[in-house]
Amino acid sequence: MLIKQEEIKMKIKKITEQIRRDFWAIYKCEHCGHEEKGSGYDDANFHSNVIPTMICKECGKTSGEDYRPLTTKYPEHVVI
Ligand SMILES: [Zn+2]
Repeated sequence: MLIKQEEIKMKIKKITEQIRRDFWAIYKCEHCGHEEKGSGYDDANFHSNVIPTMICKECGKTSGEDYRPLTTKYPEHVVI
């Protein structure tokens, strides 16, 4: 079974530091709101090809016994 990647991808919430094209940013999961800091490279390939493949560590478990179908809008541990 496939899970829709676009539902769990990460996006850049804010770039916190940038030296030329190397940057650090806060990535945020569009699905569960989980945020994490990570590095990046500011070019078109990174933005269009790399970021969309990032999987959220909180809700992006797509394989094995950890996989659960998405039935609720928010995971149970998220305070709304
Ligand atoms: Zn998530």
